Amino acid sequence: MSVRVRYAPSPTGSPHVGNLRTAVFDWLAARKYGGQFVARLEDTDRDPARYKPEGIREIEESLKWLGIEPDEWWVTGGPYAPYIQSERLDLYQSAANRLIASGMAYKCFCTEERLAAMRAQQQAQGAPTGYDRACRNMPVEQRRELESRGVPYTVRLAVPLDGVTAYSDLVYGDVTFENRTVDDQVLLKSNGWPTYHLAVVVDDHEMHITHVIRGEDWMPSTPKQVLIYQALEWEQPIWVHIPLTLGHDRKKLSKRHGATQFTEFIRQGYLPEAMFNFLVLLGWSPGDDNREVMTVAEILERFDLSGIGRNPAVFDYDKLRWMNGEHIRRCDHRRLADLCVPFLHEAGLMGAPPTPGERACLERVLPLMVERMHLLSDAPALMAPFFRDPVEPDPTGLRKWLTGADARRRLDMACVLLESDCSDLTEEAAEAVVNRVAEAMGTSRAPVIHTIRVAVTGTTVGAGLFETLRTLGRETVIRRLRRAMEWVVE
Ligand code: GLU
Repeated sequence: MSVRVRYAPSPTGSPHVGNLRTAVFDWLAARKYGGQFVARLEDTDRDPARYKPEGIREIEESLKWLGIEPDEWWVTGGPYAPYIQSERLDLYQSAANRLIASGMAYKCFCTEERLAAMRAQQQAQGAPTGYDRACRNMPVEQRRELESRGVPYTVRLAVPLDGVTAYSDLVYGDVTFENRTVDDQVLLKSNGWPTYHLAVVVDDHEMHITHVIRGEDWMPSTPKQVLIYQALEWEQPIWVHIPLTLGHDRKKLSKRHGATQFTEFIRQGYLPEAMFNFLVLLGWSPGDDNREVMTVAEILERFDLSGIGRNPAVFDYDKLRWMNGEHIRRCDHRRLADLCVPFLHEAGLMGAPPTPGERACLERVLPLMVERMHLLSDAPALMAPFFRDPVEPDPTGLRKWLTGADARRRLDMACVLLESDCSDLTEEAAEAVVNRVAEAMGTSRAPVIHTIRVAVTGTTVGAGLFETLRTLGRETVIRRLRRAMEWVVE
């Protein structure tokens, strides 16, 4: 059997990070088992409160950014095109007609008002809400009469009134439900558009989907869909519900916890491979070892649908940040430099594309900074001193290290030593300067190091001083030391 999986986003705005997790699982299953990854746009719900097509581009960009472009989708087409539900309405209508003809579905002429009144009464009585099946039991003549008058109708599934139905879920095992608990759901609305349940079943069947992988929050829908498969006499796919993603307080992940829109993570400077790594661990574990930081290839090698657990996964932002730092340190430096460019450009530190000089500077500085970076967006603050002279020292640095006559003497002496030596400023030479200043002033090296650091970078933190001085170069260091003497307060 060739595996075919689908990611079926609805255009409800900017994609949620949990949805992209589903896509990651889909992609892995397709690649692991040599199958196809299909993406389909489920756009039949046109309620303005939910229909937000401006998010479609972000769905596309997010998949491309993650490196998990579908084999078949609305962007590039495929053998079962179109991959947009609103362009497949005839398929849903003919499925509904077939169900009506076989007696598995029926026309419901109830008005919105009647349905609302019915619901209100059920609620008032504390009874479960659901359609009272008035039209299911309607005499044939009455139905014909309504049809002949062209009264609008919806199509409802004629759910078996008793008995039980079972389905099997790869993660949650065998699930059994009583048919009487399932409502006679609407399949086709009065405007001829399908509901989600009908459209999803028709498309998964027509597109030969073998595994429906989706969040556990869709599990309440599964009995309805199983009954539609049975009514249409179609074989069900294999159901794979992946556990919920929760915030640290074990409540549904929401804005309260942090970023939830996928593109926000891109903007914040996460690497695609770190997001991929982190998302797959929300619900899946390799089992055999505790290794968490893995490349996509390593994940693919270990991946198995049977490694998906049932426990809800907690979205730990700190862990994601840490994991991103780990991936930054594993990243090829040329690529990492490319990835930093937009952030440095945005901060006004370089052009886009950078000039050859800016690019060379970036490549010189990067090795000093990778250990300190968690996000690509850390790059501007860490690297700014290498691209331009600091405008002023930060207040703590000024108060602690650029105050008093001793500070001025340290700077002056360092300048004199550097100016008297015209050779390259190596790390050893930088260290020798610091040692000689400390000796001459009869202090430890610490105040000398801190004073010079604030003078040349404007900050009290950063990479090691000697490598910083070497990277900046002799001319720049001398210029900045001289200028910093003007900063010193008595
Ligand atoms: N269109 C649904 C969504 O927005 C798809 C659910 C499913 O995968 O069946 O997530």
